[in-house]
Amino acid sequence: MIRRAPDTITADARKPGYGGKIARHRQSHTFDTKPTARPPMVLTLTDTSPYDICVRNGTQRNERDLSGLSDQRSCYREVRPMITDAFDRPLRDLRVSVTDRCNFRCTYCMPRDVFGADHPFLPREALLTFEEITRLASLFAALGVRKIRLTGGEPLLRTNLERLIESLSEIPGIEDIALTTNGSLLSAQMAHRLKTAGLRRVTVSLDSLDDQVFQSMNDVSFPVHRVLDAIQAAASAGLAPVKINMVVKRGVNEDSIIPMARYFRGTGHIVRFIEFMDVGTANGWRLDEVVSAAEMVSVISREWPLSPIPPERPGEVAARYRYADNLGEIGVISAVTHAFCDSCNRARLSSEGKLFTCLFGSEGFDLRRRLRDGANDGELLQVLSGIWSKRRDRYSELRSQAGKNSKKVEMFHIGG
Ligand code: SAM
Ligand code: SF4
Ligand code: SF4
Repeated sequence: MIRRAPDTITADARKPGYGGKIARHRQSHTFDTKPTARPPMVLTLTDTSPYDICVRNGTQRNERDLSGLSDQRSCYREVRPMITDAFDRPLRDLRVSVTDRCNFRCTYCMPRDVFGADHPFLPREALLTFEEITRLASLFAALGVRKIRLTGGEPLLRTNLERLIESLSEIPGIEDIALTTNGSLLSAQMAHRLKTAGLRRVTVSLDSLDDQVFQSMNDVSFPVHRVLDAIQAAASAGLAPVKINMVVKRGVNEDSIIPMARYFRGTGHIVRFIEFMDVGTANGWRLDEVVSAAEMVSVISREWPLSPIPPERPGEVAARYRYADNLGEIGVISAVTHAFCDSCNRARLSSEGKLFTCLFGSEGFDLRRRLRDGANDGELLQVLSGIWSKRRDRYSELRSQAGKNSKKVEMFHIGG
């Protein structure tokens, strides 16, 4: 477990995270060790980068200035070391894939001809246990992570997921726990259990309101009305606003953009229109099947004028737009046509415990092996901060230079 050494904290963090000004000097944390032969270790994390990074253009605001504070100590709260990568991007968001299994075969993610009945999914013992996930999440939180998203595969296929949520919600520093799901198992009871356990928000994926189109995309004949029920269940349980992910593929479901926008306008739910991405290597991605975010915004705004609104938090992947008639907002995710690597603060943990620092990574770092070999918290923190501080990922910015056959992890391994 992590123990903070209070006397070493010399920073102003009026509101932890981006919301407030953060200024730091040197900080050190001590870490209890697991019972091992090694002596307990004291790890000193030096924060030399007291910056907030602007969401869209990456400019930095140095907020080291503590002038005007009569008593700096009265402002000390929840101070944690903030590490930054090679491009000065902090680590804020952890996506945890809790399973590689899924009961859908979305054509853009797990095409059936590649992931058929004989596909060897990970055996149970290969998956990180809830205890292992929680331990790693605590270490990530110590390095600056504030938000955890549970994903997959289909995360609700993992039994007793609410127990994991309960443990995660007790980690100091974690302010937000969210879930991305296809909705197939999100009943009213499940939504209530998740909410009670500490889940704050849900994103439900739905690619069309037209059954024929949706079923051709999920490829398991799953009907639209059951996903709509799941969205309702989430909202009724207080997991609102519900976000709805719609992947748009040219020639497949671009005609569903307007019906989706129309249906969810005024409901408080937020549809996020997502460009079809070249994640993994199995989905047969082609650039000519991408409908650009700009085109989606233009199609919708012809029907209902839209105006851009600022992001809710730095590093947010969706660009937000509000309907001019105030009937809510939408998001568009332009991972292909307009890269947002400059503000990317996300790390991803695959279900077998590999750490990826980019959605388009090829090899993850095997944290499970370190955990099961008995590494103590200090050693794991050294590993995590070492990996993040060397991070130079910006795949979307460099897409055109990437080799056509470059190996990339599949999205269902590391989640969206
Ligand atoms: N199974 C859950 C679901 O579908 O919501 C969670 C995992 S899924 C990998 C997470 C998100 O990634 C979903 O919203 C899905 O639509 C999106 N996604 C998967 N493949 C994609 C692709 N090739 N391009 C864009 N989004 C994709
Ligand atoms: Fe499953 Fe989600 Fe991938 Fe669809 S997008 S196949 S629901 S993991
Ligand atoms: Fe982040 Fe990689 Fe996506 Fe760029 S391409 S936004 S670095 S996940």
